Order: sequence, then structure tokens, then C-alpha cells
Amino acid sequence: MATLFKDVYISDGSRTIAERVHLLVSKGRIASITDARENPPSADKIISGRGKMAVIPGFVNAHTHAAMVLLRGLGEDAPLMEWLKNKIWPVEDKLTPEYIYWGTLSAMLEMLATGTTCFADMYFEMEGVADAVLSAGMKAALCRGITAGEPGKIERSLQNNIELAEKYHGREGLITVQLGPHAPYTVPMEAMKSITEAAKSHGLGVHFHFLETKGERDNLGMTPSEYLEASGLDSVPYANLAHSVWLDPDTELHENISLIHCPCSNLKLGSGIMPLPSWLDRDVPVALGTDGASSNNRLDMWEEMRTAAILHKGASMNPVCVPAVDALRMATYEGARAFGFSQKGMIREGWAADLVLVNLDSPHYIGVNGENLAAYLVYAGSSGDIAGTMVNGRWLYRNGEYPTLDREEIMQKSHEARKAITE
Ligand SMILES: [Zn+2]
Repeated sequence: MATLFKDVYISDGSRTIAERVHLLVSKGRIASITDARENPPSADKIISGRGKMAVIPGFVNAHTHAAMVLLRGLGEDAPLMEWLKNKIWPVEDKLTPEYIYWGTLSAMLEMLATGTTCFADMYFEMEGVADAVLSAGMKAALCRGITAGEPGKIERSLQNNIELAEKYHGREGLITVQLGPHAPYTVPMEAMKSITEAAKSHGLGVHFHFLETKGERDNLGMTPSEYLEASGLDSVPYANLAHSVWLDPDTELHENISLIHCPCSNLKLGSGIMPLPSWLDRDVPVALGTDGASSNNRLDMWEEMRTAAILHKGASMNPVCVPAVDALRMATYEGARAFGFSQKGMIREGWAADLVLVNLDSPHYIGVNGENLAAYLVYAGSSGDIAGTMVNGRWLYRNGEYPTLDREEIMQKSHEARKAITE
């Protein structure tokens, strides 16, 4: 089925000026983009924008723990390690595969309504997460969080992560799989080496928490460069380093490394502010993520994009840094690229029709035009402007409804799971 977005603005992370076009979606891809002054192509379904709607690429949440929506609100206003040890890890022990499955679906309701089409998830019981992704028709980059514990735990978790890759990597074009060592403070160096060796031999990327807090940097025992080399992270097919708040900005990074900025989670946990402008100045790829809903507490990538765009202007007293278009690119294309999704995250012919329809017919868009649309979206807009979210040309969220998901059942099962793990 072909869907025509007739006379809409298109904006993405490569356009400083938004064009007014007819955008045709067919067979899951962007089939054509033609000038809005020309006659539109024919289609089965027509969405008439009349210049009052915009189409942007779907957001890619490059770091989250989706099922942690079930732990939202537990232990607020506490430092990271205290929060993890006292509030999060004891409750996580009670999570079952079933709870994680329903929690992930519940997170997907939030993510789709706020324009996310793809999310990079690190958690456990990931087969259920993969099945939830496939049943919804979303895209995801999945890894099993690997942490030390009783003897043999790391080996079993790594084996489980490799099996996840064998079963799901590339599945229906919706899923990529990475290896997921949790962090330097939960995975000893020797185990890191065996995980990166496995990544190389299986051709997999790695998703890793790195230098989220100052204490973690102080206890690393070497420079970040030395750590990346000693662990083998700088020679795996690709490594995506979540947070990197305390990664020294003069660190030389190999081309296989991308950083994932989680500004709201870092602010809320008091972890600090990543030196984003330094990385952008050096053309180091940086994607955006929310982190889990129990540290953010939202899964709203639009807010993450806006925060990334304004936070560093204030922190560095430089209103020129992190322009709106860069923030939009980080929230969309950079995450897709970092996690192995090709032709996703820009509005281009032939690319995946992973799109968000934005309603511009609101007071806060008065004065919007092609020249200023990106800035209006990033600074004035919010996920409340979203009229629909599409993955591979299929609506997964449209005007408050979820065509592929049973919202009532997901809500009920998630309430039950929350009750079971917290009582
Ligand atoms: Zn995290």
C-alpha cells in the first residue's frame, strides 16, 4: 500500500532548510520526494498536509533499558551507586521473562507516542524483548547486559548474548544485536577481553556504559584511551559508549567508536554534563538516548533532543554550539548508524519509511517556515505535536491509537508486574 504525504514540510539532520514536498511511501521505503508545487503522485492513502504538517525521521533512542518502566519512581533523588544497589538491583531480581516482556511493550507505547521508531536496549531476558519488538513492528538494537556475579555468570551471560544474536540479528530487518558488557565497574578487565574477542569473532558491535560518573573515572586505574585499548573495545566492529560524561574530551577515539549522550538521565542522577561541543567539533559521532525510565524518568526523545541543544549553550556560555539541526541529526540518523541500521534516519528516496508526522497547526508554530522549521521543532516543539509514528511505512501510532498493539492488555499486565515486583 502506498501512502502519500501531500504538501508537507520535510526536515532532517542534513537539511538546514526544510522543503515543502509531496512524499510518497511505498513498500516500506520513501519512494519519491517531489516539489509541492507539482502534481502529486497517486496513492492508496493520502494525508493532506496543506503546508501545516511536517515529516521528520523517527527518533532512535540509542540507550535505554525499556523494561525499567516497571521500576519508575523507585528511589528518587539518590546518587547512581546508592540508587542501583539499594533500590534497583533488589527489585530487578524479582523480574521474570514475562514481566520484562510486558514492561518492554509498555515502554514501546510511550516510545511510539513520542516519535521513537527504534531503540537500543540493554537488559536481560532479551528473547522476550525481541519478541515484543517483532510483534509491534518496531526496530531495536538489542544486547544482553553482562555483569559479574557468582562464578560462571559472565560466561553464561555472554553465551546467552551470542545465542540472541544467532537467533535475532537481522530478523525481518527490524533487529540488530550487540554484545552488552554492562560497565567497567561491573565487568572485570579479563572478562572484557573475552567479550571483545567474541564480538570480533562473531562480527558484532558492543554496547557499553562508560564513565557515567566521576567516581567511575577516578577508579578506572588508567586513562580512557588505555582502557579502550586494553579491553579491546577500540578494535571490535563497533563500540557504542553510553554516557561518556567523564571521558576526557582530548581522548583520541578510533573510528569504530560512537558516543551516546543521555543528558536528562545524567542531569537527574547528578552525574555531570558530557563535553558534547568538544566531540562535535572533532566530528566524533554522538547519538542520543534517554537511558532507562527509572533514571530519566521519561522515554521522550524529543525532550532529549531539546535538552541536548540547550544544555551545552548554557554550560559553555556559547549560544552557537549544538545547533538545532545537529540535535535533530543526533536524535535520528546518528543512533541508527551507530547500531548498524543502514538507510535509516534521513528523509531520502530509497531510505526506510521510519517517519514521524508532526502537526504544525498550533499556536507555538506561528511564524514557522522552511528556513526556521528545524529550530521551531527543536526549541518550541514537543512530542505533544506528534500525529503519527510509522515504521517501514506502517503506522504503529496514529492519533492516539496503536494499530499493532493491544494497549489495554499491555497496561493491565504491566500494572500486575509492577505490583508483583514491588510488594
Ligand atoms: Zn544505562
